[in-house]
Amino acid sequence: MKRGKKLYEGKAKIIYSTNSKNLAIQYFKDDATAFNNQKKSKIDGKGVLNNRISEHILENLNQIGIKTHLVKRLNMREQVIKLVEIIPIEFIIRNIASGSIIKRLGIEEGTVLKSPLIEYCLKNDKLGDPLIAEEHIYTFDWATKKEIEKVKKMIFRINDFMIGMFRGVGIKLVDFKLEFGRIKVNGKKEIILADEISPDTCRLWDALTEKKLDKDRFRKNLGGLIPAYTEVAKKLGILHEQSNIDSANITNLSTFKRKNKK
Ligand code: UDP
Repeated sequence: MKRGKKLYEGKAKIIYSTNSKNLAIQYFKDDATAFNNQKKSKIDGKGVLNNRISEHILENLNQIGIKTHLVKRLNMREQVIKLVEIIPIEFIIRNIASGSIIKRLGIEEGTVLKSPLIEYCLKNDKLGDPLIAEEHIYTFDWATKKEIEKVKKMIFRINDFMIGMFRGVGIKLVDFKLEFGRIKVNGKKEIILADEISPDTCRLWDALTEKKLDKDRFRKNLGGLIPAYTEVAKKLGILHEQSNIDSANITNLSTFKRKNKK
């Protein structure tokens, strides 16, 4: 597969065209951003870990019948994905209160919600991805009722699966963000999951100590982001054989690459 021109550059990823019109290459950068791009940094090795963790989770979802954009991982930083027509909504799923909801509604951090809660945000960086009601989606034709019903079913299934998967390795799934897109299969429109799932897009707490193992380490200046993401990868069984891809070596590898580029 040949990497073509850059189609889109986001905060943590770049999408390139390929020689197939329905496929793209997704490149995971090391850039970290928070608070609507006001806090920025580069964290060596983050992209490599997110690529592996996201591949692992999306492959598992594929195995339980959830269709996703992932075709295959190409290398340390790239995946082949299906190009979709993205639904311009960020779907937030919460199991435990943390992040924006605790500030917005005055809920105590760590409150276990009586059932998973879906929130909708408009995908618009200029407006800071504002929270919207489901009705806004229909008023402005961002998606149809039928599509949202399908998406909600997928979200609850993904959430149930992921809660169990993380629970089994001693991690609490607090909340996460998903995006979905439309593709045409034999002339029929289908909705598929079109997003990474990684510690950049989930809140993950150690089940015993409640230590944060996600991007809150960057948002809240807690440090130790790479060791935390590595811990998630190891707990999921991704890095076991490749003991040489531990956090130190990921850092060495990216430093090595940068040095050799000069
Ligand atoms: N999230 C994300 N991208 C966004 C906004 C949120 O991946 O643009 C994730 C975030 O990592 C967390 C969940 O969605 O796991 C809920 O985020 P929240 O609404 O609390 O927003 P935050 O204050 O973290 O930006």
